[in-house]
Amino acid sequence: MADRIFNFSSGPAVLPLPVLEEVQRDLIALPGVGMSVMEISHRSSTFEAIIAQAEADIRRLAGVPDTYRVLFLQGGASLQFSMLPMNLLTEGTTADYLMSGYWPEKAAKEARKVGTVNETGSTKADGYSRIPSDDEIHLTPGAAYVHMTSNNTIEGTEWHRLPVVGPDVPLVCDASSDIFSGPVDVAKHGVIYAGAQKNLGPSGVTLVIIREDLLARSAKGLHTMLSYAVQAENGSMYNTPPAFGVYVLGLVAKWMLAQGGLPAMGALNERKAAKLYGELDRTGFWRPTAQRESRSLMNVTFRATSGDEALENAFVKEATAAGFDGLKGHRAVGGMRASIYNAFPEAGIDQLVAFMAEFERRKG
Ligand SMILES: *Cc1c(COP(=O)(O)O)cnc(C)c1O
Repeated sequence: MADRIFNFSSGPAVLPLPVLEEVQRDLIALPGVGMSVMEISHRSSTFEAIIAQAEADIRRLAGVPDTYRVLFLQGGASLQFSMLPMNLLTEGTTADYLMSGYWPEKAAKEARKVGTVNETGSTKADGYSRIPSDDEIHLTPGAAYVHMTSNNTIEGTEWHRLPVVGPDVPLVCDASSDIFSGPVDVAKHGVIYAGAQKNLGPSGVTLVIIREDLLARSAKGLHTMLSYAVQAENGSMYNTPPAFGVYVLGLVAKWMLAQGGLPAMGALNERKAAKLYGELDRTGFWRPTAQRESRSLMNVTFRATSGDEALENAFVKEATAAGFDGLKGHRAVGGMRASIYNAFPEAGIDQLVAFMAEFERRKG
């Protein structure tokens, strides 16, 4: 524990220490089982209990209605870019994609291989530095679904409202980088999906929450592993599920419940982000790259206001040496990115803020 540093990685990302400690404690042998979670049959009663508990805790955490199915799949959020249109974008229909960044571009690209896509609300002309406003969004009446990306991991922007979609149009959300970072109204969505490795657990497991009636759209001829209906019918165990990932994800869900659930996570994330943006706004030495009303609570992107890349590089280098890892921004934005997901400790924000102020005193 003494040698853990502050991990600002955008993903895979920091996990709660109590979860890692429990994994470590039970890694060789689960209590009462005498084998590790990686060595037991997924058809064993032990694993069935683990996956059932993980699902129950996610349902409790997010208040998932009974009319929704919770799936644990593989292939990351990126496979959902394909699986989603293969199941839901049926012949003769159009899917709307809200184009708020790099990841929605990737999602729309796969959907275009399947059917008709209407890309709308693009803020590309502004470098994706903001979320589109309602009047920039032009939806297709009777669309198969509307796809949004709730948090733009690379650009550091986040939706702080849900887009208004028609009453009969399912809203689909790629929530990979802000899932369960605060309260969520699952009932306003048709599908929510997220690769686990940012806010939920290790890589290798993808959470999909899907409204039951949408399963009827999965064509019978679909490849078996790519069918939501088949995955749901088989309780995510048509084949061997990502057992270790499901186990850790379950522990993370339990940890979130113990913190007070999503309202508590939301309050903590607001407080953490406010401290960091407060420091960025304090003197103008730094420039947050996201427009104010679109700022992400999860990925805080910023540059040196002077535009001096050597200064940015020096900051990242010195910060790394001081025990703040993963602050280099994505090449598309440049500068710095501090990813401060649920499990990122508030003490790490306090120490980074102090380090930034000291760096500015020396270089400003
Ligand atoms: C990281 C990320 C992805 C890609 O996730 P994989 O699980 O690696 O496929 C997709 N969407 C968003 C918003 C992301 O942050």
